[in-house]
Amino acid sequence: MILDGQTVVVTGAGSGLGAATAQRLAAAGAKVGCIDLSLDAAQATAKEIDGIGLAADVSDAVAVEAAFAQVEKTFGIARVVVSCAGIGTAARILPRDGSLSIDSFAQAIKVNLLGTYTVMNIAARAMASAEPIDADGSRGIIINTSSVAYEDGQIGQAAYSASKGGVASMTLPAARELARFGIRVMTIAPGLFETAMSAGLPDDIRAEILKAVPFPSRMGNAEEYAQMVQSIVENAMLNGSVIRLDGAARMPIK
Ligand code: NAP
Repeated sequence: MILDGQTVVVTGAGSGLGAATAQRLAAAGAKVGCIDLSLDAAQATAKEIDGIGLAADVSDAVAVEAAFAQVEKTFGIARVVVSCAGIGTAARILPRDGSLSIDSFAQAIKVNLLGTYTVMNIAARAMASAEPIDADGSRGIIINTSSVAYEDGQIGQAAYSASKGGVASMTLPAARELARFGIRVMTIAPGLFETAMSAGLPDDIRAEILKAVPFPSRMGNAEEYAQMVQSIVENAMLNGSVIRLDGAARMPIK
């Protein structure tokens, strides 16, 4: 799909991977709706790229529908939707203080999995109602964000891995179902990327993780994630897959 002139929605656009994606797709000529939990953050990204910034909790369907409606009113139906909104929960199943960790599990599922599904559902309904935009009959593409933790989750990542595993697992059935509308669905599973989410990692844990990245042995930068998003949008044969973007990393046990 050609990005120039297309309407795009990016969630989590106020920070990190989402902000870099919004910037890159805007530079390629897209009109971008930036959604984030924080209106200030969403608007800060939008201001740099002549987009619109909107606040919505991705797990709140009413708020997501309202945000999509606003984007549609301003720029038209979103044909490219990238879900970057997410939280990085870390909690052992059995915390050392003897408490239960069910609430943090539920929160990870709510934001990372239900939130991604909610955005995909609302985006797909609008795309399916729109006219095809190329000779293949494409109506749109949805790109979700998993994590390498969906396959090699570390100790403390049971909830995060489960949420990201759900995102990865729904890629193929979603792509199969939405194929008849000309809608592609892809997922990116990043390794460790330099963003606000990873900034809080203690130095020793960061060093341990980087030892598990064969080449290049460094953290990814958000622009490399955004570059992958653009490549997926532009390559029509990419559909129904999860792409690990990780320098061949396999995460250690902890
Ligand atoms: P980030 O810089 O923290 O950005 C995530 C953004 O999502 C933040 O602006 C955050 O807002 C927003 N957000 C959180 N909960 C939300 C909700 N319920 N509704 C709407 N927006 C919400 O993190 P990032 O590293 O760019 O992460 C982007 C995605 O990549 C996440 O799904 C993450 O799990 C995934 N990922 C990241 C890495 C990495 O190493 N960075 C690796 C693998 C996967 P607040 O700041 O206000 O919470």
